[in-house]
Amino acid sequence: MEFRCIEECSQCCVEREYYPRKEFGKIGVLILPEEKEKMEQLAKKMELDISILPRIGISQKRDPESIEILAYQMMGIEKNGNTCPFLDIETGKKSPHGGFPCNVYEDRPLACKTYPLIEIDPITLDQKCKFCKEHKTADSNLNSEIESLLKIKNKMSTDAPFVWRYATGVGEEEDKPQIKTGWILEE
Ligand code: SF4
Ligand code: SF4
Repeated sequence: MEFRCIEECSQCCVEREYYPRKEFGKIGVLILPEEKEKMEQLAKKMELDISILPRIGISQKRDPESIEILAYQMMGIEKNGNTCPFLDIETGKKSPHGGFPCNVYEDRPLACKTYPLIEIDPITLDQKCKFCKEHKTADSNLNSEIESLLKIKNKMSTDAPFVWRYATGVGEEEDKPQIKTGWILEE
């Protein structure tokens, strides 16, 4: 079956999840270091406020001061971390499948071009995606998603001894006591 977005769905541009656990807060859209400036410039041009936090860091020493950032994340605009700043929820325009359009579709981050693919071997789709929930899998027309995921994997591959994940401090009000902020070492 071919992958095709469900009519009027914008879920993946709206809903953000706690990852890998609640204590890390809700994540944003993954942004590679070379994409950061472009997203900031696009936001400036559109007069949008965006927040880009670190996501994954590596170091040679067990010392957060020496972290080199491998990936950033663009946070949602809602207090609870949801809704990408580039999602057009206000003008009433529609994307080709009827959902809210992306204001930077041609320039969207590689991570958006990858979704809903989360693994290549074997092909694994994110079961949180509405299409994937309904159809369980898609076995054709995922070539550009595969290509984008390969690029991300390539950029993120590391043999550094210490890998850190940044806790965003963002989430639902009732979860705040459990959510941390700052670098946490992956054990
Ligand atoms: S959640 Fe899935 S079906 Fe919905 S917009 Fe995103 S990719 Fe398309
Ligand atoms: S950049 Fe565009 S495609 Fe990516 S999450 Fe934001 S609105 Fe969606």
